[in-house]
Amino acid sequence: MLVIPVHNMVVLPNSVLYIRKDAFAASTDRPASRGEKVILLITKEDDEREKLNADSFKPLAVTGIIRNEDLYDFVAIDTLDRVGIDMADVTPEHKIQLSISARPEVKDMDESEENAVFTKLRQEIISFASNYEWGPVTRQLTTFCSNLNGLISVFAPFMYISAEERYSLLEENSTKARAEKIEQFILEFIEMARLNSDSSEHIEQDTKKIYREAAIKKQIAYLQSELDKLHPENMTELRKLELKIEESGMNEEARKEAGKIINRMKNEGENSQEYAMMFDYVDLLAKLPWKKSEAEEIDLKEAREVLEADHFGLKKVKERIIQQIAVMDLKKEQSGSILCFVGAPGTGKTSIGKSIAKALHREYVRVSLGGVRDEADIRGHRRTYIGAMPGRIIDGISKAGVSNPVMVLDEIDKLSQSYNGDPASALLEVLDPEQNSTFTDHYLNVPYDLSDVMFICTANSLDTIPAPLLNRMEVIQFNGYTESEKYQIAVKHLLPKAEKAVGIPEEHINITEEAMHTIISDYTKEGGVRGLKKRLDTLCRTAAVKLVSGENDKLTIEKDQLRDYLDMKPIHHEVAAESNQPGVVTGLAWTQAGGDILYIETLFTKGSGKTIITGQLGDVMKESVQIAVSLVKSMYPDKAELFDKNDLHIHVPDGAVPKDGPSAGITLTTALSSLVTGHRVSPQLAMTGEVSLRGVVSPIGGLPEKLMAAKRAGVSKVFIPEENKDDLNDVADEVKNSLTIIPVASVAEVLKQTQLMTSAVQ
Ligand code: ADP
Repeated sequence: MLVIPVHNMVVLPNSVLYIRKDAFAASTDRPASRGEKVILLITKEDDEREKLNADSFKPLAVTGIIRNEDLYDFVAIDTLDRVGIDMADVTPEHKIQLSISARPEVKDMDESEENAVFTKLRQEIISFASNYEWGPVTRQLTTFCSNLNGLISVFAPFMYISAEERYSLLEENSTKARAEKIEQFILEFIEMARLNSDSSEHIEQDTKKIYREAAIKKQIAYLQSELDKLHPENMTELRKLELKIEESGMNEEARKEAGKIINRMKNEGENSQEYAMMFDYVDLLAKLPWKKSEAEEIDLKEAREVLEADHFGLKKVKERIIQQIAVMDLKKEQSGSILCFVGAPGTGKTSIGKSIAKALHREYVRVSLGGVRDEADIRGHRRTYIGAMPGRIIDGISKAGVSNPVMVLDEIDKLSQSYNGDPASALLEVLDPEQNSTFTDHYLNVPYDLSDVMFICTANSLDTIPAPLLNRMEVIQFNGYTESEKYQIAVKHLLPKAEKAVGIPEEHINITEEAMHTIISDYTKEGGVRGLKKRLDTLCRTAAVKLVSGENDKLTIEKDQLRDYLDMKPIHHEVAAESNQPGVVTGLAWTQAGGDILYIETLFTKGSGKTIITGQLGDVMKESVQIAVSLVKSMYPDKAELFDKNDLHIHVPDGAVPKDGPSAGITLTTALSSLVTGHRVSPQLAMTGEVSLRGVVSPIGGLPEKLMAAKRAGVSKVFIPEENKDDLNDVADEVKNSLTIIPVASVAEVLKQTQLMTSAVQ
């Protein structure tokens, strides 16, 4: 079988094809004999035979037979069947080798229907061609055709239709759809030619009007693309934008909006005041990823490995993430449920978000919500504003460049409200799977589908997240790291990264184990590792200077050199005092940076029953003071008059960390009990718990961080609310083993255990 590559021709089964003899000779590797079977391959580019390679061919081809009669300058080929190219190869000698299989069409048009269209079109062609010098040839050729496929094949050389359009006819599986396309091509072309011939006849028939309009548009587009091809360097910005819009795959609504603005730009011209703004708008619209990005197959094992490799510890967190990934895989969903990572700064919330993206082979984008006050920050400004911009969500999508990124919404607890609308309610729409497939940014003004985005939120605390938002999310706690975990993170992750950042090979810096532990304990004070990372970065920079100045090519850093390397004084840590005087009790506080211990100090001074509160206490804590006072007065009736005769002064030292929340209730009550009874409470004993007027100790938050702080401060015994017992599962063994943890249900139990009960009313 002879293989004939052709380009820019209409090649269809069951028709006839005329190829100029010279072109035929150039495209084949040997002379052909009449009656020989051939295969017509369609090439992607107009390449010479020598340049063809295995990738040069379109996937569909047609078989045929060379006609027996001689036809002036042409070789006529009767085409037979449509076939698919399963494999194509070109040998170094330019021989084309193929394996093919049948690709029959669906015959969904009956013969009489086809004949009617065929006759009508042939008539149109003949009457149209009669005005041209090539008319007689065309007329003669059409008489050879017996069907629509043949008609378009012979008429196509006279038409302006692109190689792609020509091939699209062969791609059409349904014969009916193909017939409609052929009709459209021919009538549009004839209309186009009529327009050109400056004929003044007005054709009023509706169908013709439609074809006429389509033909004008097509001709403009065709001429424009020809111009662009000839002078790509002259393409205007506007034209480039138009091309971008065509290629962007945007939905109909967006396309209309873009078209509207482009028309305004054309009408108003570049000197228009709003030109730049309109340009930016259409540019953003064209850049947005409109085409749906396909998710890759999820490999759970690999995902696990990625999470393991990037982060030390965080066992429960990783397990929960893997579950989420598995569910997404099973349900074939790209978004999954919305996770909210909650914990102190530097506990790895954001960076694990990045690892999730890596594990899923998806783009990662971080949107910071800290300090966002206006709805417009989320949803964009309307374009009528000067300096209007899209909101952060659409901006994030545009940066990611795909429709399905992993989007980390950072610091969702730092959203605030202003008179310019509530950003939380806008965010609610972003996160709601029912609504987010048509999320409309005010700037964009057309809906954008966010339903494939995987959202992950991060927060330091749950307290300030509006309830409706919180309801949509699944909270995962990041509890902060123990000292030994921090050590491992520093050695395995932070130090190698810091060394790499300054370009020092790993073996050139050696930080002794003792020095590393000292950095953690004396130079940082945090639940996470952000400060630790900064210290190690500083250390490596100092080391780099020393190495470059060339005294040594290897440095060993000892504990006593740290002040020099880190250029800072060790941080003061609250440590459990040697002894307390009556009225002073050690409490445990949760702060945004993790946990801390605090001393609650109480004192009576001569006065008249006033309560003086100093230190940075929040409103909730002030209420706890009143509850504690009432409770102590009722439990020690014979001491109640002390409160009337004296002024009560309550102080919480170390005012640097604002403390609020009711969890100091039990500490306050115990401190006052100690004050009124005159008995000391050991500073090695710390406590946390909310207290009610009935003397019931109720649960508190942040237990893991508080216990870690207790361990760090050298406390040995801790009272925790009975109802928090289950939270001990989240506390590292290392912490649990170094403390005696006693769950308590009532104030009375605490007072008993602290020997303050003797004179209390039970
Ligand atoms: P967050 O978002 O919780 O404030 P980040 O994700 O910004 O914290 O983490 C701060 C730095 O600490 C990052 O460089 C991160 O890679 C690193 N880090 C935190 N936790 C771990 C961990 N478990 N293993 C390795 N590196 C960690």
